[in-house]
Amino acid sequence: MTDGKRDTRLTHGGRASAADHDFVNPPIVRGSTVLHSSVADMRERSRRYRSDEPGPVNYGLYGTATHYALFDLLSELEGGYRSWAVPSGLTACTMTMLAFVRAGDHVLVTDSAYGPTRRFCIDMLPRYGVQCSFYAPTAGEELESMFRPDTKVLWLETPGSLTFEMQDVPRLAALAHARGVVTVADNTWATPLYFQPLACGVDVSVHAATKYICGHSDMLMGTITCNEATWPSMRETLFNFGLIVSPEDAYVALRGLRTLGVRLRQHRATAERLIEWLLAQHEVERVLYPALPSDPGHSIWQRDMSGASGLFGIVLKPAAGGARLDALVDAVRLFGRGYSWGGHESLLIPVFPERSVGASAYHGRLFRISAGLEDVDDLIADLQLGFSALRATETQR
Ligand SMILES: *Cc1c(COP(=O)(O)O)cnc(C)c1O
Repeated sequence: MTDGKRDTRLTHGGRASAADHDFVNPPIVRGSTVLHSSVADMRERSRRYRSDEPGPVNYGLYGTATHYALFDLLSELEGGYRSWAVPSGLTACTMTMLAFVRAGDHVLVTDSAYGPTRRFCIDMLPRYGVQCSFYAPTAGEELESMFRPDTKVLWLETPGSLTFEMQDVPRLAALAHARGVVTVADNTWATPLYFQPLACGVDVSVHAATKYICGHSDMLMGTITCNEATWPSMRETLFNFGLIVSPEDAYVALRGLRTLGVRLRQHRATAERLIEWLLAQHEVERVLYPALPSDPGHSIWQRDMSGASGLFGIVLKPAAGGARLDALVDAVRLFGRGYSWGGHESLLIPVFPERSVGASAYHGRLFRISAGLEDVDDLIADLQLGFSALRATETQR
């Protein structure tokens, strides 16, 4: 599917269940109990449940028409077999990890992985007898020697959401596939519009839908899209843990998807104007954004992705870091100092990556911007305030 076709699907997909009442959008169906017409109907729905056939379910935990409108559209955009939604992006990451491991197994996780995903691997997986090794996000052939006979999952995140390294997904997925290892990609930065990991050999694509999919900083959600081979294990894990989101949340995520295309084009246009301004400031050493021709991951981005979102990193020159960066961050008025990203409002925070390419070298001089939907000239004026404050710290010294 091309991006144009995907744009059309954003509007027309996920509508099947609306047909009943002729409204454009699906109803919000709330429900736990489903009433069956007969014992035969109970048996039939149970059989369908066990054999994973689409159609009316026998209990609310397995999703309503509202949920399936969202799940079907996600599967279509990602080129996947089935999708599901869980209460946060982190739940999507942790449940996906758990779906493919058991005691005695090992997982390989990129050093650029989202911090709390990384912490789950370090703090929680060992409790269940699962070991974890981290690898450099830009690793190529070196990764081959890190696979062990008991490795079950290869975890990717491309680009990393703090340090923005692009990963060579087709190559890494092929290494994993040759060993029967399940490959999972955290695809939050590129969204289902600009990257389809499954088409590059990945088995499962996860999103913090909290970010661009929902897009308005008003809810938390994670989504999981599987290929046909991995869905049975994923489904078993989700259903045994009893995980689903409310129909209201599913509806809000579906509504977010409707405007994803236009929002992303604006987020990127604003990001590019801000980057141009930032690169002209003498305190800025470099900008981390794969869509920039000077970015080390640019050629991979150009090959694999069809667009860019509005989240990027800025590395200051060594003399401008530390308390001077704090002064910059404290001085802005329009940019919010807050976690998360992908909402309508611009955010600017200092970031301290634990480990990744260049992470220690960046220490104290890396900040991250999520370009929102405000007027870009107002945002540049606000950055000017930040840089004036940073410069004022120099004259004080
Ligand atoms: C935010 C984020 C998550 C977690 O999402 P939450 O909904 O905040 O739990 C996972 N991966 C990435 C890349 C993220 O940025």
